[in-house]
Amino acid sequence: MQKSAEAIVIGGGVIGTSIFYHLARQGMRDVVLLERDIPGAGSSGKSAALVRQHYSNEVTIRLAQKSLEIFQHFPDWVGGSAGFRQTGWLQISPPALQRATEEVVALQHALGVRSELLSPEAVQELFPALNTAEVAVGAYEPEGGYADPHSVLSSFVNRARELGGKVYMGTPVRQVLVEKERVKGVVTDKGTIEAPIVVGAVGPWAQEVGKMIGVEFPLQVLRSQVAIFQPKQPEENPPLVVVDPLHDTYFRPETGNITLIGGTEGIAPEKRRIDDPNSYNEKADPEYVQGISEKLCRRLPSFENAGFVRGWAGPITVTPDWHPILGPLPGLEGFYCAVGFSGHGFKLSPAIGLAMAELITQGKATTVDLTPFRFTRFAEGD
Ligand SMILES: Cc1cc2nc3c(=O)[nH]c(=O)nc-3n(C[C@H](O)[C@H](O)[C@H](O)COP(=O)(O)OP(=O)(O)OC[C@H]3O[C@@H](n4cnc5c(N)ncnc54)[C@H](O)[C@@H]3O)c2cc1C
Repeated sequence: MQKSAEAIVIGGGVIGTSIFYHLARQGMRDVVLLERDIPGAGSSGKSAALVRQHYSNEVTIRLAQKSLEIFQHFPDWVGGSAGFRQTGWLQISPPALQRATEEVVALQHALGVRSELLSPEAVQELFPALNTAEVAVGAYEPEGGYADPHSVLSSFVNRARELGGKVYMGTPVRQVLVEKERVKGVVTDKGTIEAPIVVGAVGPWAQEVGKMIGVEFPLQVLRSQVAIFQPKQPEENPPLVVVDPLHDTYFRPETGNITLIGGTEGIAPEKRRIDDPNSYNEKADPEYVQGISEKLCRRLPSFENAGFVRGWAGPITVTPDWHPILGPLPGLEGFYCAVGFSGHGFKLSPAIGLAMAELITQGKATTVDLTPFRFTRFAEGD
């Protein structure tokens, strides 16, 4: 193992690999990615990978916009494939969410997002097989869709390697070296690497890495489940991504004539808590599969005859305001964190990597200002 590097990124999820790639792309020739297992071993490999720009605040919409642009032009921006399928994305809002939905679409329009409000009749026309009961309004993004986490991960990693980056898998970081409030490098099972810059992009392991630097992140890790069903006829699969807040579900087509459905199924956060990301139930619960299947059938009645294919559970790392924690940490020069994506890190990962790399190499994120996501916002009460 090499003894020193210009920068070290800890964590091979979509966030860490995107930062790794963008650091290399922005001219760092000696960047190292350290992954305790294999890329995608955390949240990223289990993601439903929906891509949308439907957010109620400007900064996240801007990150989603930039990310969409990168997903759309992945071969040029990164190289390789993101497996991006631009199927369209539709939220079917019940009356209680009509106003909020209209406000989001108005904000999107002010920021140049292609989206439109659809009447229940227009929703029905767009997706004739959908049961539109209790739909007051649709928010439709023709450019939305979903991508493939494994393609995204391997493209970021491969391209960064071509630019000179080094990847060490099966290499957990055990200690972060600090001297006079400055980061000096890391200690791994395979040796020590010195570097003036260390980035912690460790997803659900944030508290573990936080302990190494004496920081407690305001985070909790929640279990999130998804299930796959196969309808009798391939054409019964939904043609686009649908988010159904009334039933707290989302569903989308998946390669192989199957449909992926996820959502919390009304399970309270206390019952979803993961205390140790190294050891939790990674299988979908039978009662979850039953409940989510019933909800899918309410919207797509032909799924009454669908077969359950498989299901799984993965961790999401949630902050008190459901926004990530990004940027430097006070009192520890050279250490940057990118954690707490609160269930929406996949779709934001291209822009997060770009902006974090700008912050690290130029001292300022110019693509999208990341200051609103600073660690100190919680203590400041912002
Ligand atoms: C079921 C499910 C569905 C989801 N659906 C969506 C969606 O539709 N759209 C969306 O945008 N987001 C979605 N998400 C959320 C999204 O997947 C996450 O926000 C995103 O993957 C977070 O990426 P990450 O790189 O921060 O974390 P991770 O993918 O968890 O990566 C962290 C990595 O750090 C490594 N690591 C940890 N500690 C160490 C150490 N000490 N040394 C070395 N390596 C270490 C881990 O092994 C891991 O690979 C979903 C998540 C789940 C679970």
